[in-house]
Amino acid sequence: MCGIFGVYGNTDAAALTQLGLYSLQHRGQESAGIVAVDDSGYARVSRAMGLVSDGFGDADMKSLRGHIAMGHTRYSTAGASALENAQPILARVRDSHIALAHNGNLTNAVELRRELEDHGAIFASTMDSEAIVHRIARASGATPEQKLANALGSVEGAYCIVVTIDETLLAARDPHGWRPLVMGKLGDGYVFASETCALDIVGATYEREVAPGEIVAVDKHGIRSINVLPPAPLNRCVFEQVYFARPDSLVFSGSVDRSRRALGRQLATECPAPGAEIVFAVPDSSNSAALGFSDVSGIPYELALIRNHYVGRTFIQPTQAGRDAKVKIKYNPVRELLEGRSVVMVDDSIVRGTTTRGLVSLVRAAGAREVHMRVSSAPIISPCYYGIDTPRKEELIAATMDHASLAQHLGVDSLGYLSLDGMLSAMPTGPSGYCHACFSGAYPTAIPVDGELLRAGGGRRVS
Ligand code: 5GP
Ligand code: SF4
Ligand code: MG
Repeated sequence: MCGIFGVYGNTDAAALTQLGLYSLQHRGQESAGIVAVDDSGYARVSRAMGLVSDGFGDADMKSLRGHIAMGHTRYSTAGASALENAQPILARVRDSHIALAHNGNLTNAVELRRELEDHGAIFASTMDSEAIVHRIARASGATPEQKLANALGSVEGAYCIVVTIDETLLAARDPHGWRPLVMGKLGDGYVFASETCALDIVGATYEREVAPGEIVAVDKHGIRSINVLPPAPLNRCVFEQVYFARPDSLVFSGSVDRSRRALGRQLATECPAPGAEIVFAVPDSSNSAALGFSDVSGIPYELALIRNHYVGRTFIQPTQAGRDAKVKIKYNPVRELLEGRSVVMVDDSIVRGTTTRGLVSLVRAAGAREVHMRVSSAPIISPCYYGIDTPRKEELIAATMDHASLAQHLGVDSLGYLSLDGMLSAMPTGPSGYCHACFSGAYPTAIPVDGELLRAGGGRRVS
Protein backbone atom coordinates (compact mmCIF):
# COMPACT_ATOMS: atom_id res chain seq x y z
CA MET A 1 0.00 0.00 0.00
CA CYS A 2 0.98 3.56 -0.39
CA GLY A 3 -0.06 7.10 0.31
CA ILE A 4 -0.20 9.73 -2.41
CA PHE A 5 -0.52 13.49 -2.25
CA GLY A 6 -0.52 16.35 -4.74
CA VAL A 7 -0.93 20.11 -4.54
CA TYR A 8 -1.40 22.76 -7.20
CA GLY A 9 -1.22 26.51 -6.79
CA ASN A 10 0.73 27.15 -3.62
CA THR A 11 4.18 28.67 -3.29
CA ASP A 12 4.89 26.26 -0.42
CA ALA A 13 3.85 23.24 -2.49
CA ALA A 14 6.76 20.98 -1.47
CA ALA A 15 6.48 21.86 2.23
CA LEU A 16 2.73 21.19 2.13
CA THR A 17 3.43 17.87 0.44
CA GLN A 18 5.85 16.93 3.19
CA LEU A 19 3.13 17.72 5.74
CA GLY A 20 0.62 15.69 3.77
CA LEU A 21 3.00 12.75 3.69
CA TYR A 22 3.34 12.86 7.48
CA SER A 23 -0.41 12.20 7.60
CA LEU A 24 -0.09 9.37 5.12
CA GLN A 25 2.85 7.70 6.85
CA HIS A 26 0.65 4.81 8.04
CA ARG A 27 0.07 3.90 4.38
CA GLY A 28 3.76 3.29 3.78
CA GLN A 29 6.93 3.44 5.83
CA GLU A 30 9.46 2.02 3.45
CA SER A 31 10.37 5.10 1.44
CA ALA A 32 9.09 8.59 0.80
CA GLY A 33 9.52 11.05 -2.02
CA ILE A 34 8.53 14.50 -3.26
CA VAL A 35 8.55 15.99 -6.75
CA ALA A 36 8.15 19.73 -7.24
CA VAL A 37 7.63 21.53 -10.52
CA ASP A 38 8.97 25.07 -10.74
CA ASP A 39 7.54 27.99 -12.70
CA SER A 40 9.48 27.10 -15.81
CA GLY A 41 8.10 23.56 -15.79
CA TYR A 42 11.31 22.01 -14.48
CA ALA A 43 10.63 19.09 -12.14
CA ARG A 44 12.95 18.06 -9.31
CA VAL A 45 12.72 15.02 -7.11
CA SER A 46 13.91 14.01 -3.67
CA ARG A 47 13.45 10.42 -2.51
CA ALA A 48 14.76 8.55 0.48
CA MET A 49 14.36 5.23 2.20
CA GLY A 50 12.55 5.24 5.51
CA LEU A 51 10.16 7.65 7.15
CA VAL A 52 9.05 11.08 6.00
CA SER A 53 10.66 12.59 9.11
CA ASP A 54 14.05 11.21 8.09
CA GLY A 55 13.82 11.70 4.35
CA PHE A 56 14.04 15.42 3.62
CA GLY A 57 16.73 17.77 4.87
CA ASP A 58 16.64 21.57 4.62
CA ALA A 59 18.69 21.50 1.43
CA ASP A 60 16.28 19.01 -0.19
CA MET A 61 13.27 21.09 0.72
CA LYS A 62 14.90 24.31 -0.50
CA SER A 63 15.67 22.77 -3.86
CA LEU A 64 12.07 21.60 -4.33
CA ARG A 65 10.84 24.92 -5.69
CA GLY A 66 7.59 25.64 -7.44
CA HIS A 67 3.86 25.91 -6.96
CA ILE A 68 3.14 22.31 -7.95
CA ALA A 69 4.27 19.31 -5.91
CA MET A 70 3.37 15.72 -5.26
CA GLY A 71 4.56 12.99 -2.95
CA HIS A 72 4.41 9.33 -2.05
CA THR A 73 4.88 7.05 0.93
CA ARG A 74 5.59 3.46 -0.02
CA TYR A 75 4.79 0.22 1.71
CA SER A 76 6.05 -3.07 0.50
CA THR A 77 7.01 -6.18 2.36
CA ALA A 78 7.52 -8.34 -0.73
CA GLY A 79 10.81 -7.90 -2.50
CA ALA A 80 13.79 -5.82 -1.55
CA SER A 81 13.47 -2.31 -0.21
CA ALA A 82 15.42 -0.26 -2.66
CA LEU A 83 15.72 3.39 -3.49
CA GLU A 84 15.24 2.60 -7.18
CA ASN A 85 11.71 1.56 -6.26
CA ALA A 86 10.89 4.72 -4.32
CA GLN A 87 8.31 7.09 -5.77
CA PRO A 88 7.37 9.51 -7.23
CA ILE A 89 8.89 8.36 -10.48
CA LEU A 90 10.29 11.25 -12.52
CA ALA A 91 11.04 10.88 -16.22
CA ARG A 92 12.38 13.41 -18.66
CA VAL A 93 11.08 12.64 -22.13
CA ARG A 94 12.01 14.88 -25.03
CA ASP A 95 11.13 18.35 -23.66
CA SER A 96 8.64 17.02 -21.18
CA HIS A 97 8.84 16.17 -17.49
CA ILE A 98 6.48 13.45 -16.31
CA ALA A 99 6.15 12.45 -12.66
CA LEU A 100 3.89 9.85 -11.09
CA ALA A 101 2.90 8.58 -7.64
CA HIS A 102 0.81 5.42 -7.53
CA ASN A 103 -1.26 3.60 -4.93
CA GLY A 104 -2.62 0.21 -5.96
CA ASN A 105 -1.56 -2.82 -7.94
CA LEU A 106 -1.94 -3.28 -11.64
CA THR A 107 -3.30 -6.70 -12.54
CA ASN A 108 -1.79 -6.73 -16.02
CA ALA A 109 1.60 -5.31 -15.03
CA VAL A 110 3.58 -8.25 -16.34
CA GLU A 111 1.93 -8.07 -19.77
CA LEU A 112 2.24 -4.27 -19.91
CA ARG A 113 5.90 -4.45 -19.08
CA ARG A 114 6.66 -7.20 -21.56
CA GLU A 115 4.91 -5.34 -24.32
CA LEU A 116 6.78 -2.13 -23.56
CA GLU A 117 10.10 -3.97 -23.33
CA ASP A 118 9.40 -5.66 -26.66
CA HIS A 119 9.15 -2.16 -28.11
CA GLY A 120 12.45 -1.06 -26.66
CA ALA A 121 11.46 0.43 -23.32
CA ILE A 122 14.11 0.27 -20.61
CA PHE A 123 12.84 0.14 -17.05
CA ALA A 124 14.72 1.72 -14.17
CA SER A 125 12.76 -0.07 -11.44
CA THR A 126 10.81 -3.25 -10.86
CA MET A 127 7.62 -1.31 -10.14
CA ASP A 128 4.38 -1.92 -11.96
CA SER A 129 3.82 1.84 -11.73
CA GLU A 130 6.68 2.56 -14.10
CA ALA A 131 4.70 1.03 -16.96
CA ILE A 132 2.18 3.86 -16.59
CA VAL A 133 4.93 6.46 -17.02
CA HIS A 134 6.11 4.74 -20.21
CA ARG A 135 2.57 4.71 -21.50
CA ILE A 136 2.10 8.40 -20.76
CA ALA A 137 5.34 9.17 -22.60
CA ARG A 138 4.05 7.34 -25.67
CA ALA A 139 0.44 8.51 -25.52
CA SER A 140 -1.07 10.99 -27.90
CA GLY A 141 -3.71 13.52 -26.91
CA ALA A 142 -4.57 17.17 -27.41
CA THR A 143 -4.62 17.87 -23.65
CA PRO A 144 -2.68 16.39 -20.73
CA GLU A 145 -5.86 14.71 -19.45
CA GLN A 146 -6.55 13.17 -22.84
CA LYS A 147 -2.98 11.94 -22.96
CA LEU A 148 -3.36 10.37 -19.52
CA ALA A 149 -6.69 8.82 -20.50
CA ASN A 150 -5.11 7.25 -23.57
CA ALA A 151 -2.23 5.97 -21.47
CA LEU A 152 -4.60 4.41 -18.93
CA GLY A 153 -6.73 2.75 -21.59
CA SER A 154 -4.87 -0.55 -21.42
CA VAL A 155 -3.96 -0.42 -17.73
CA GLU A 156 -5.95 -2.87 -15.60
CA GLY A 157 -6.25 -3.26 -11.86
CA ALA A 158 -6.12 -0.92 -8.93
CA TYR A 159 -4.68 2.54 -9.20
CA CYS A 160 -5.02 5.92 -7.69
CA ILE A 161 -2.40 8.17 -9.20
CA VAL A 162 -1.19 11.72 -8.97
CA VAL A 163 0.71 12.79 -12.07
CA THR A 164 2.45 15.89 -13.33
CA ILE A 165 2.89 16.39 -17.04
CA ASP A 166 4.95 19.56 -17.25
CA GLU A 167 2.90 22.24 -15.50
CA THR A 168 -0.34 20.30 -15.24
CA LEU A 169 -1.21 18.34 -12.11
CA LEU A 170 -3.52 15.37 -12.69
CA ALA A 171 -5.24 12.90 -10.39
CA ALA A 172 -6.94 9.72 -11.54
CA ARG A 173 -8.73 6.76 -10.00
CA ASP A 174 -9.35 3.44 -11.71
CA PRO A 175 -12.92 2.75 -12.81
CA HIS A 176 -13.39 0.11 -10.07
CA GLY A 177 -12.41 2.58 -7.34
CA TRP A 178 -10.38 0.09 -5.29
CA ARG A 179 -8.27 2.70 -3.51
CA PRO A 180 -9.39 5.97 -2.00
CA LEU A 181 -8.55 9.40 -3.41
CA VAL A 182 -9.99 12.74 -2.37
CA MET A 183 -9.68 16.33 -3.48
CA GLY A 184 -9.74 19.52 -1.49
CA LYS A 185 -9.40 23.24 -1.89
CA LEU A 186 -6.62 25.31 -0.36
CA GLY A 187 -6.89 29.04 -1.08
CA ASP A 188 -6.96 29.32 -4.85
CA GLY A 189 -5.25 25.98 -5.22
CA TYR A 190 -6.18 22.31 -5.12
CA VAL A 191 -5.01 19.34 -3.09
CA PHE A 192 -5.34 15.61 -3.80
CA ALA A 193 -4.68 12.92 -1.21
CA SER A 194 -5.30 9.26 -0.42
CA GLU A 195 -7.16 10.21 2.77
CA THR A 196 -8.77 13.32 4.17
CA CYS A 197 -6.42 13.36 7.18
CA ALA A 198 -3.82 14.71 4.74
CA LEU A 199 -6.16 17.55 3.75
CA ASP A 200 -6.67 18.38 7.43
CA ILE A 201 -2.97 18.75 8.16
CA VAL A 202 -2.44 21.31 5.37
CA GLY A 203 -5.65 23.19 6.20
CA ALA A 204 -7.41 22.27 2.95
CA THR A 205 -11.19 21.98 2.77
CA TYR A 206 -12.55 18.61 1.68
CA GLU A 207 -14.46 18.89 -1.57
CA ARG A 208 -15.22 15.34 -2.69
CA GLU A 209 -13.80 11.99 -3.75
CA VAL A 210 -12.14 11.68 -7.12
CA ALA A 211 -14.77 9.45 -8.73
CA PRO A 212 -13.93 5.99 -10.03
CA GLY A 213 -12.87 6.39 -13.65
CA GLU A 214 -12.39 10.14 -13.31
CA ILE A 215 -9.35 12.14 -14.35
CA VAL A 216 -9.01 15.62 -12.85
CA ALA A 217 -6.50 18.07 -14.33
CA VAL A 218 -5.41 21.40 -12.85
CA ASP A 219 -3.21 23.99 -14.56
CA LYS A 220 -3.11 27.67 -15.42
CA HIS A 221 -6.27 27.19 -17.50
CA GLY A 222 -8.19 26.04 -14.41
CA ILE A 223 -9.60 22.72 -13.22
CA ARG A 224 -11.14 20.16 -15.59
CA SER A 225 -12.61 16.72 -15.12
CA ILE A 226 -13.16 13.97 -17.67
CA ASN A 227 -14.71 10.53 -17.38
CA VAL A 228 -13.52 8.72 -20.46
CA LEU A 229 -12.38 5.42 -18.97
CA PRO A 230 -14.87 2.61 -19.55
CA PRO A 231 -17.28 2.31 -16.59
CA ALA A 232 -16.86 -0.76 -14.37
CA PRO A 233 -18.46 -2.29 -11.27
CA LEU A 234 -17.42 -0.60 -8.04
CA ASN A 235 -14.85 -2.59 -6.01
CA ARG A 236 -13.86 -0.35 -3.12
CA CYS A 237 -11.47 -2.14 -0.76
CA VAL A 238 -13.33 -3.06 2.42
CA PHE A 239 -9.97 -3.58 4.15
CA GLU A 240 -9.31 0.17 3.96
CA GLN A 241 -12.24 0.65 6.34
CA VAL A 242 -11.40 -2.38 8.47
CA TYR A 243 -7.69 -1.84 9.00
CA PHE A 244 -5.71 0.32 6.67
CA ALA A 245 -6.98 3.91 6.71
CA ARG A 246 -6.78 6.28 9.66
CA PRO A 247 -9.92 6.56 11.79
CA ASP A 248 -9.87 10.36 11.48
CA SER A 249 -10.21 10.06 7.70
CA LEU A 250 -13.18 9.95 5.41
CA VAL A 251 -12.67 7.07 3.03
CA PHE A 252 -15.10 6.32 0.19
CA SER A 253 -17.19 9.22 1.55
CA GLY A 254 -17.61 7.50 4.92
CA SER A 255 -15.99 8.03 8.30
CA VAL A 256 -13.48 5.30 9.13
CA ASP A 257 -14.11 5.78 12.84
CA ARG A 258 -17.83 5.21 12.31
CA SER A 259 -17.22 2.11 10.21
CA ARG A 260 -14.93 0.61 12.81
CA ARG A 261 -17.34 1.32 15.66
CA ALA A 262 -20.11 -0.25 13.61
CA LEU A 263 -17.88 -3.26 12.95
CA GLY A 264 -17.29 -3.58 16.70
CA ARG A 265 -20.99 -3.28 17.51
CA GLN A 266 -21.86 -5.88 14.92
CA LEU A 267 -19.13 -8.13 16.33
CA ALA A 268 -20.61 -7.88 19.83
CA THR A 269 -24.00 -8.81 18.39
CA GLU A 270 -22.74 -11.78 16.39
CA CYS A 271 -20.11 -13.06 18.83
CA PRO A 272 -20.90 -11.93 22.38
CA ALA A 273 -18.63 -12.83 25.25
CA PRO A 274 -20.94 -13.28 28.22
CA GLY A 275 -19.21 -13.17 31.56
CA ALA A 276 -16.18 -11.27 30.32
CA GLU A 277 -15.12 -8.43 32.62
CA ILE A 278 -13.18 -6.10 30.36
CA VAL A 279 -12.74 -5.51 26.65
CA PHE A 280 -9.55 -4.07 25.18
CA ALA A 281 -8.09 -3.36 21.75
CA VAL A 282 -4.86 -4.37 20.13
CA PRO A 283 -3.81 -0.76 19.56
CA ASP A 284 -4.16 1.25 17.41
CA SER A 285 -6.00 -0.15 14.43
CA SER A 286 -8.76 -1.81 16.48
CA ASN A 287 -9.35 0.89 19.12
CA SER A 288 -12.59 2.09 17.53
CA ALA A 289 -13.88 -1.46 16.98
CA ALA A 290 -13.24 -2.34 20.64
CA LEU A 291 -15.22 0.76 21.68
CA GLY A 292 -18.12 -0.42 19.51
CA PHE A 293 -17.91 -3.87 21.09
CA SER A 294 -18.00 -2.30 24.55
CA ASP A 295 -21.01 -0.12 23.63
CA VAL A 296 -23.18 -3.05 22.69
CA SER A 297 -21.95 -5.62 25.18
CA GLY A 298 -21.82 -3.25 28.15
CA ILE A 299 -18.41 -4.73 29.01
CA PRO A 300 -16.11 -1.89 30.16
CA TYR A 301 -13.45 -0.76 27.69
CA GLU A 302 -9.95 -0.69 29.16
CA LEU A 303 -6.50 0.13 27.86
CA ALA A 304 -4.95 -3.20 28.76
CA LEU A 305 -2.33 -3.32 26.04
CA ILE A 306 0.10 -0.45 25.61
CA ARG A 307 1.84 0.04 22.32
CA ASN A 308 5.32 1.45 21.98
CA HIS A 309 5.03 4.12 19.30
CA TYR A 310 8.73 4.51 18.76
CA VAL A 311 9.17 1.12 17.20
CA GLY A 312 9.13 1.34 13.44
CA ARG A 313 8.34 -1.54 11.15
CA THR A 314 12.02 -2.09 10.50
CA PHE A 315 12.51 -3.03 14.14
CA ILE A 316 9.90 -5.72 14.03
CA GLN A 317 11.17 -7.66 11.08
CA PRO A 318 11.46 -11.36 11.81
CA THR A 319 14.84 -11.90 13.43
CA GLN A 320 14.17 -15.39 14.72
CA ALA A 321 14.55 -13.83 18.15
CA GLY A 322 11.31 -15.55 18.99
CA ARG A 323 7.67 -14.66 18.57
CA ASP A 324 7.25 -13.32 22.07
CA ALA A 325 10.31 -11.10 21.87
CA LYS A 326 9.03 -9.64 18.62
CA VAL A 327 5.62 -8.89 20.04
CA LYS A 328 7.07 -7.63 23.33
CA ILE A 329 9.04 -4.92 21.57
CA LYS A 330 5.78 -3.46 20.37
CA TYR A 331 3.23 -4.23 23.10
CA ASN A 332 3.17 -4.52 26.87
CA PRO A 333 0.16 -5.61 28.94
CA VAL A 334 -1.17 -3.74 31.98
CA ARG A 335 -1.10 -6.46 34.62
CA GLU A 336 -3.39 -4.57 37.02
CA LEU A 337 -6.22 -4.70 34.49
CA LEU A 338 -5.76 -8.30 33.42
CA GLU A 339 -4.91 -10.26 36.54
CA GLY A 340 -7.53 -12.86 37.41
CA ARG A 341 -10.00 -11.57 34.84
CA SER A 342 -11.93 -12.95 31.92
CA VAL A 343 -11.07 -10.60 29.05
CA VAL A 344 -12.09 -9.83 25.46
CA MET A 345 -9.24 -8.91 23.14
CA VAL A 346 -10.44 -7.21 19.96
CA ASP A 347 -8.31 -7.00 16.83
CA ASP A 348 -9.27 -5.91 13.34
CA SER A 349 -7.80 -8.88 11.51
CA ILE A 350 -5.68 -11.97 11.74
CA VAL A 351 -3.24 -12.51 8.90
CA ARG A 352 -0.54 -15.03 9.74
CA GLY A 353 -1.63 -15.33 13.36
CA THR A 354 1.89 -14.73 14.62
CA THR A 355 1.18 -11.44 16.39
CA THR A 356 -2.12 -12.67 17.77
CA ARG A 357 -0.58 -15.81 19.23
CA GLY A 358 2.23 -13.81 20.84
CA LEU A 359 -0.24 -11.32 22.29
CA VAL A 360 -2.44 -14.02 23.76
CA SER A 361 0.54 -15.50 25.52
CA LEU A 362 1.54 -12.05 26.85
CA VAL A 363 -1.98 -11.42 28.12
CA ARG A 364 -2.08 -14.81 29.81
CA ALA A 365 1.34 -14.27 31.35
CA ALA A 366 -0.03 -11.02 32.79
CA GLY A 367 -2.62 -13.07 34.68
CA ALA A 368 -5.74 -13.10 32.48
CA ARG A 369 -7.98 -15.99 33.55
CA GLU A 370 -9.83 -16.37 30.23
CA VAL A 371 -8.99 -14.80 26.86
CA HIS A 372 -11.81 -14.36 24.35
CA MET A 373 -10.49 -13.23 20.99
CA ARG A 374 -12.86 -11.20 18.80
CA VAL A 375 -11.96 -10.10 15.29
CA SER A 376 -13.76 -7.19 13.63
CA SER A 377 -13.48 -8.67 10.14
CA ALA A 378 -14.17 -11.99 8.46
CA PRO A 379 -11.33 -14.54 8.28
CA ILE A 380 -8.68 -13.61 5.69
CA ILE A 381 -8.51 -16.61 3.41
CA SER A 382 -7.14 -15.33 0.09
CA PRO A 383 -4.34 -13.08 -1.09
CA CYS A 384 -4.97 -9.58 -2.40
CA TYR A 385 -3.96 -8.61 -5.93
CA TYR A 386 -5.15 -5.04 -5.66
CA GLY A 387 -2.61 -3.34 -3.48
CA ILE A 388 -2.68 -4.76 0.05
CA ASP A 389 0.23 -6.88 0.98
CA THR A 390 -1.45 -10.01 2.25
CA PRO A 391 0.81 -13.03 2.06
CA ARG A 392 0.35 -16.15 -0.05
CA LYS A 393 -2.61 -18.36 0.77
CA GLU A 394 -0.42 -20.98 2.47
CA GLU A 395 0.66 -18.36 5.02
CA LEU A 396 -2.86 -17.15 5.81
CA ILE A 397 -3.69 -18.90 9.04
CA ALA A 398 -7.46 -18.88 8.53
CA ALA A 399 -7.00 -20.52 5.12
CA THR A 400 -5.05 -23.40 6.54
CA MET A 401 -6.82 -24.25 9.83
CA ASP A 402 -10.39 -24.92 10.84
CA HIS A 403 -11.97 -22.76 13.53
CA ALA A 404 -11.32 -25.09 16.46
CA SER A 405 -7.70 -25.75 15.52
CA LEU A 406 -7.13 -22.02 15.04
CA ALA A 407 -8.55 -21.19 18.49
CA GLN A 408 -6.29 -23.82 19.97
CA HIS A 409 -3.29 -22.61 18.00
CA LEU A 410 -3.85 -19.03 19.17
CA GLY A 411 -4.30 -20.24 22.73
CA VAL A 412 -7.68 -18.57 23.31
CA ASP A 413 -10.72 -19.76 25.27
CA SER A 414 -12.97 -18.67 22.44
CA LEU A 415 -12.54 -17.12 19.01
CA GLY A 416 -15.16 -15.06 17.19
CA TYR A 417 -14.91 -13.55 13.72
CA LEU A 418 -17.35 -11.18 12.13
CA SER A 419 -19.37 -12.70 9.30
CA LEU A 420 -18.81 -11.45 5.77
CA ASP A 421 -22.34 -10.03 5.61
CA GLY A 422 -21.98 -8.48 9.04
CA MET A 423 -18.74 -6.84 7.99
CA LEU A 424 -20.24 -5.39 4.81
CA SER A 425 -23.37 -4.23 6.62
CA ALA A 426 -21.18 -2.02 8.82
CA MET A 427 -19.91 0.01 5.86
CA PRO A 428 -21.13 3.61 6.05
CA THR A 429 -22.52 3.75 2.52
CA GLY A 430 -24.20 0.34 2.60
CA PRO A 431 -22.94 -3.16 1.90
CA SER A 432 -22.59 -3.08 -1.89
CA GLY A 433 -19.83 -1.82 -4.13
CA TYR A 434 -17.01 -3.34 -2.08
CA CYS A 435 -14.21 -5.73 -2.94
CA HIS A 436 -13.99 -8.46 -0.29
CA ALA A 437 -11.92 -11.01 -2.18
CA CYS A 438 -9.41 -11.62 0.60
CA PHE A 439 -12.30 -12.48 2.94
CA SER A 440 -14.55 -14.33 0.51
CA GLY A 441 -12.25 -15.65 -2.21
CA ALA A 442 -14.64 -14.02 -4.71
CA TYR A 443 -12.27 -12.01 -6.89
CA PRO A 444 -14.05 -9.26 -8.80
CA THR A 445 -11.63 -9.64 -11.74
CA ALA A 446 -9.65 -12.43 -13.29
CA ILE A 447 -6.71 -13.19 -11.03
CA PRO A 448 -3.68 -11.76 -12.77
CA VAL A 449 -1.72 -14.03 -15.04
CA ASP A 450 1.63 -14.48 -13.34
CA GLY A 451 -0.01 -13.31 -10.15
CA GLU A 452 2.61 -14.84 -7.93
CA LEU A 453 5.36 -13.53 -10.17
CA LEU A 454 3.83 -10.11 -9.75
CA ARG A 455 3.71 -10.52 -6.01
CA ALA A 456 7.11 -12.14 -5.61
CA GLY A 457 9.48 -10.19 -7.77
CA GLY A 458 8.83 -10.24 -11.52
CA GLY A 459 7.08 -6.93 -11.47
CA ARG A 460 6.99 -6.85 -7.72
CA ARG A 461 4.16 -5.65 -5.53
CA VAL A 462 5.04 -2.16 -4.73
CA SER A 463 1.96 -0.15 -4.15
P1 5GP B 1 -1.13 -11.65 12.92
O1 5GP B 1 -1.73 -12.18 14.17
O2 5GP B 1 -1.81 -12.12 11.71
O3 5GP B 1 0.37 -11.91 12.88
O4 5GP B 1 -1.23 -10.08 12.96
C1 5GP B 1 -2.48 -9.45 13.04
C2 5GP B 1 -2.24 -7.99 13.24
O5 5GP B 1 -1.64 -7.43 12.09
C3 5GP B 1 -3.48 -7.17 13.48
O6 5GP B 1 -3.23 -6.35 14.60
C4 5GP B 1 -3.67 -6.31 12.28
O7 5GP B 1 -4.10 -5.01 12.67
C5 5GP B 1 -2.32 -6.26 11.68
N1 5GP B 1 -2.35 -6.27 10.22
C6 5GP B 1 -3.33 -6.63 9.38
N2 5GP B 1 -2.98 -6.49 8.11
C7 5GP B 1 -1.75 -6.00 8.12
C8 5GP B 1 -0.86 -5.60 7.10
O8 5GP B 1 -1.13 -5.64 5.91
N3 5GP B 1 0.35 -5.13 7.53
C9 5GP B 1 0.67 -5.03 8.86
N4 5GP B 1 1.87 -4.55 9.20
N5 5GP B 1 -0.15 -5.37 9.82
C10 5GP B 1 -1.34 -5.86 9.47
FE1 SF4 C 1 -9.07 -4.97 -0.25
FE2 SF4 C 1 -9.11 -7.57 0.24
FE3 SF4 C 1 -10.09 -6.63 -2.07
FE4 SF4 C 1 -7.46 -6.57 -1.57
S1 SF4 C 1 -8.74 -8.40 -1.83
S2 SF4 C 1 -8.71 -4.92 -2.45
S3 SF4 C 1 -7.42 -6.17 0.63
S4 SF4 C 1 -10.86 -6.25 0.01
MG1 MG D 1 -3.45 -4.02 14.54
